[in-house]
Amino acid sequence: MTGSKSTEDFPGLARLRAELAAMADQQLLRVRRLVESPQGVDIRVDGESLLSFSSNDYLGLAAEARVVTAFSEGLKRYGAGSGASHLVTGHFVAHHALEEELAAFAGTERALLFSTGYMANLSVVGALLDRHGTVFEDRLNHASLIDAARLSGARVKRFHHGEVERLATQLAETEREAGSAAADKLILTDGVFSMDGDLARLPELLNLARQYRSWLLVDDAHGIGVLGKAGRGSFEHHGLVPRAPAILLGTLGKAFGTFGAFVAGEADLIEYLVQRARPYIYTTALPPAVAEATRASLRIVQDEGWRRDVLRERIAQFRAGAAQLGFMLLDSPTPIQPVIFGTAEAALAASEALRKRGILVPAIRPPTVPVGTSRLRISLSAAHTEAHVEQLLTALAAVRA
Ligand SMILES: *Cc1c(COP(=O)(O)O)cnc(C)c1O
Repeated sequence: MTGSKSTEDFPGLARLRAELAAMADQQLLRVRRLVESPQGVDIRVDGESLLSFSSNDYLGLAAEARVVTAFSEGLKRYGAGSGASHLVTGHFVAHHALEEELAAFAGTERALLFSTGYMANLSVVGALLDRHGTVFEDRLNHASLIDAARLSGARVKRFHHGEVERLATQLAETEREAGSAAADKLILTDGVFSMDGDLARLPELLNLARQYRSWLLVDDAHGIGVLGKAGRGSFEHHGLVPRAPAILLGTLGKAFGTFGAFVAGEADLIEYLVQRARPYIYTTALPPAVAEATRASLRIVQDEGWRRDVLRERIAQFRAGAAQLGFMLLDSPTPIQPVIFGTAEAALAASEALRKRGILVPAIRPPTVPVGTSRLRISLSAAHTEAHVEQLLTALAAVRA
């Protein structure tokens, strides 16, 4: 009784309640849908069967039979949990084999496996820079890159989306201020921007990084597996390789369909991260069975280029159809195809109207995207058929009318 009374009176909770009520008023409250089937284009959510354009499972691997089998064989061999961090006794042969295969895939000396992309970003930025360094970032970078810069304590300079000219000015300013005692610099960018689907201007960013002796971290969460003939992502798409000053960060929970992330680069860089990256050192290693599942999905990513071909066809089909219907599309050659509605209410209403037609497309609202650019974020997959995309286009036309 005293317990419940003191909770009622606690002012901290009253403040949270008020803030939640305000968010609800502005249509900014998020709800978590309950998924009852495997991830895929046919999904069962909140008791309904829907055609989904809402996951990052771009190649249709999250529930692919060979990936699932590798996972379950990994479980039989290693059990469920890793039981320790990598530097204690949690680094299994499955993790190690996956790291070697990822390095070969990326074309780098070494690769390092992380539990999540979020932690991989915190790791690299925190290990490379301290408060004496400067981070340069695109304003539309993923939240984990923004948080990584903040946490590092480094000075942060942000430039408008894609404005490498502004970045060049900021780099020059920083060099002038620091004099010849060149402080550490790090440019952060998404390879494919996660809410717009457009590409970073990687060749220009890399030139600037070289010119100003700055690191360049490319978070290719949405490019790896998807872009490039061999699926090596943004670097391959632009005819580049991830060599210093460039660093590649890939995630494994999207096109790879499993879970985790990796950083690929020079052996010395990777060894430094092993020794110094706190979010790497002080966390439990991924379950080794997850690494086994990812080894199977990496083989599919490499061997089954037809998945990328199908995906490209679906992207082209969607863009041609949507343009014909008069929808304003962003400059995205990737499976991320946003349709901007403006207000949160309008985007939510469109998402809800699509759901009534059996189609799942999430509304993305602030703070994930800037105010006034609430949108439907359509994501396409190699598992979608031509008929699925037609169904989406028909529903979009009806929703707008
Ligand atoms: C999803 C995402 C991440 C986070 O990766 P997780 O493995 O899900 O933590 C990081 N960066 C970008 C650009 C992403 O889209």
